[in-house]
Amino acid sequence: MPAFMEPFRIKSVEPIPFPSTEERRTALADAGHNLFRVPSRAITIDLLTDSGTNAMSAAQWSALLSGDESYAGATSFEHFRAVVRELTGFDEVIPVHQGRAAERILLGELLGAGDVSISNTHFDTTRAAIESAGATAVDLPVDQTSPSAFGGDIDLGLLEERLRGTRANGVRCVVLTITNNAGGGQPVSLANVTAVRQLCDRHRIMLLLDASRFAENAYLITEREPSEAGRSPREVAHALFSLADGCWASLKKDGLANIGGLIALRDTELARRCRQQLIAFEGFPTYGGLAGRDLDALAQGLLEVTDPAYLRYRASTARWFGEQLSEAGLSVLQPTGCHAVYVDAAQVLPHISPEQLPATALANELYLAGAVRVSDLGTLAFGRADPDGGVDIAAPRELVRFALPRRVYTKSHLEYVVDVAANVAAKAAQIPGYRIVEQAPVLRHFTAVLMPLG
Ligand SMILES: *Cc1c(COP(=O)(O)O)cnc(C)c1O
Repeated sequence: MPAFMEPFRIKSVEPIPFPSTEERRTALADAGHNLFRVPSRAITIDLLTDSGTNAMSAAQWSALLSGDESYAGATSFEHFRAVVRELTGFDEVIPVHQGRAAERILLGELLGAGDVSISNTHFDTTRAAIESAGATAVDLPVDQTSPSAFGGDIDLGLLEERLRGTRANGVRCVVLTITNNAGGGQPVSLANVTAVRQLCDRHRIMLLLDASRFAENAYLITEREPSEAGRSPREVAHALFSLADGCWASLKKDGLANIGGLIALRDTELARRCRQQLIAFEGFPTYGGLAGRDLDALAQGLLEVTDPAYLRYRASTARWFGEQLSEAGLSVLQPTGCHAVYVDAAQVLPHISPEQLPATALANELYLAGAVRVSDLGTLAFGRADPDGGVDIAAPRELVRFALPRRVYTKSHLEYVVDVAANVAAKAAQIPGYRIVEQAPVLRHFTAVLMPLG
């Protein structure tokens, strides 16, 4: 089977809009030149995020009908728990409505004022949960300036140093985000997780996985870590979970569904405390803020997502798409992972300085050229306004992310995106920068109003 051929056929279709040049110009202007504010009915190909945008399988749609909507003790929960127990080896399984609910409950229970969590990179919602508990989130990623097979790893030397002597005081957990979204969607190696486990044992610190993309990480290990070449993604996933004390996940990613999340733990006492929080803020422990049918669809999704043919197709699609975008004239971060392709807008638009938002400029131009929506991970998202009203504090990189919803777009849809990208790259020198007209004090990229310069 060709690696990038879709290992499924299509049973249910949804028409996509093709707004005209004029309609695109109007939609972007009406949205304050901010793609988050553009309605989806004005988008042809939507690569804004891979979160909750998955297409479910026939088996998942049929599982919805067997959903048991009983308030307590639903069989849907029993299905979900059995699948999560088999996958992770963790006995305590707690459903939640999405990843950030898991983070607030679990990290809120584990961490207090003055405590520290160390990670390869905390996802932004993870960091928010830690900081709102009064604790500190410390990121120790490996150097990401040059391409490497496991760019998602935590820096073991820096971790060891951070745990030396009294510096270990207050460190409550190490969190490995698999894959490391912030670092370009790069995987964490099994060797890295094993070494972190040893350090955590030595210092009696909990090791937790943010397992939102566990299947993609496991697959990339089978491709890139020679000792794991013969194993299945599911076997590698088992190995990853077996090294941790617990995990949480946003199941809007590798749950292959549109909503859901989980906490899974070995520690019965910690799970008991989490369930009390769950009851207070999310729902009874056998549904956790979801419908019974969601739990059935998720149970099925968690079985499907480790299919080697699906994961090979997904990684090959990202690789192919990255090569094509690069031929089209964009600077693509290498190696590609699974859930997205990242482009360095600073390289494509060298005439636009960071305070004139090159990542925003590139993303907006892709929309104007072909109603393609991507996300801007540059200074608009990760920079900050200067409190004294001067120029913005720039983000470390001006990245644009082309996220790949799971099982949604075919290769010809992505070929269309490549054509649009080539048109944009060809007139890169004429693309204007932007200035911010209105912004919120936090998470400004979701709502900011912008104006093109010149
Ligand atoms: C999406 C995500 C989260 C947050 O989950 P939500 O379902 O969006 O609340 C946490 N960690 C990682 C790595 C994620 O990708």
